[in-house]
Amino acid sequence: MASSQPPLSYIIVGAGVFGTSTALHLATKYPASSVTLVDRDAHTAERRVAASWDWNKVVRADYRDPVYCGLAVEAQDVWRQDPLWQPYYRETGIYWISRTGIAQRALENFARLGRGAKDGEGRMMKIRAVPVDEAKRLYGGVFDQADYTGVENVLVNETSGWADAKGALRAATEKAVEKGVKVVKAEVRELVFGEDGACVGVVTEEGERYTATHVILSTGAFTPKLLDRVAEKTGRDEFLVGDRIIAAGVTTGLAQLDDRTAEEFSGMPVAIQENDPERGASNGGLPLTADKRLKWWGQCIFKNTQTMPSGRQISAPPASVDYAQWSVPETLVEDIKFANTAIFGKRGETWKITDHRICWDAVTPSEDFIISPHPASKGLYIATCGSFHGWKFFPIIGEYVVKMLDGSLDPELQKRWAWDRERPDPLGNKVWPVKELKDLQ
Ligand SMILES: Cc1cc2nc3c(=O)[nH]c(=O)nc-3n(C[C@H](O)[C@H](O)[C@H](O)COP(=O)(O)OP(=O)(O)OC[C@H]3O[C@@H](n4cnc5c(N)ncnc54)[C@H](O)[C@@H]3O)c2cc1C
Repeated sequence: MASSQPPLSYIIVGAGVFGTSTALHLATKYPASSVTLVDRDAHTAERRVAASWDWNKVVRADYRDPVYCGLAVEAQDVWRQDPLWQPYYRETGIYWISRTGIAQRALENFARLGRGAKDGEGRMMKIRAVPVDEAKRLYGGVFDQADYTGVENVLVNETSGWADAKGALRAATEKAVEKGVKVVKAEVRELVFGEDGACVGVVTEEGERYTATHVILSTGAFTPKLLDRVAEKTGRDEFLVGDRIIAAGVTTGLAQLDDRTAEEFSGMPVAIQENDPERGASNGGLPLTADKRLKWWGQCIFKNTQTMPSGRQISAPPASVDYAQWSVPETLVEDIKFANTAIFGKRGETWKITDHRICWDAVTPSEDFIISPHPASKGLYIATCGSFHGWKFFPIIGEYVVKMLDGSLDPELQKRWAWDRERPDPLGNKVWPVKELKDLQ
């Protein structure tokens, strides 16, 4: 007898790592379901607004938090072995110039997970805390002029690395399409609700309507703005993100190295430098791309508070279609120069840094993701809030979103990633933006 149950259908808004990974895992687990992935930018576009679209991203399991350490180890295993992900992953190692004791905590976490090859005396060989003088000689001495003020040990983890972000994003989307996911290029303007208040679909700026049994918002930094619109339209403040999520920006920039310099830096690992908390959480430099470009991210983290049509004050990316991400004020250009000096000292002084970009992400006070039903409406779910560290989980995060949708997410993760959960005071969090973009102009 035919089932009277309607087939499961999913609309995912936002094709960054959270949305794309979810689409891929849904299409794999439920091949008979209908999965539609909607994004304002085509997955083939030359440039996109997604935080997930980038030249490269760090893939590391060096976390103070044992839960994210475990999840990142799980993701890295996939990065290393799976033919879909492996071509985009480079295990160059990482070099942490840390002032906050990450080395000890990360080593404890790896030991607890039984990870890391050990020498005869039980010390980990590939993941280790190295005294500064010794560390300066590693990797051909490329970091010998870095700022080590207040640093005792450098955490060197040869099992960390980075990935070609846009390459992996495009390949994963193409794999999802192969598995039957429908990809739509459109800006979602509104959500659609049934008479019982359940969310049953979305409407695009062009007025196109898509319906499904499940609507998942993986809209990154745009989420607070979109839900503000929904609250305004429905007259229901329960949709608002409140102090759960803030849109925050960080600047990146790249330098094209000449052949000789590229050769000198060809063996460099990822470098992360923690700075004075006044400036922000950290800055970093990534190893050379295939076309010999070195990328930095800056330490200044900022918000962009605007008055919404609802009258509410909300931080959101600038209103233009490209989030004005290529219009970078001089102060933030300087922030990238500072990152270069903090890592390479005089070695990088003549490099010409170009392609400055402001990358917007959704950040939570605890830096935990939100992977949860939205309690304001049945059928509506949230899966986003990478909080400046979500990219590396690309191969596996969708599996966790699917578990959330199925109601089988581990209770600890369910609690940690819930829409409603205990929220720490964000001011204790170094990635919580305090500065306003307008004050940096
Ligand atoms: C500078 C910087 C460096 C980072 N470095 C790292 C790193 O090295 N390693 C790491 O693990 N993480 C890193 N992160 C964090 C990581 O990039 C993000 O946490 C992650 O990419 C967020 O993914 P997402 O899918 O939630 O959002 P996004 O990637 O931002 O995707 C959201 C998508 O939603 C779409 N969208 C939004 N609203 C709508 C709408 N109304 N209609 C249609 N489409 C819509 C957007 O177009 C976008 O494509 C970094 C972040 C930044 C900003």
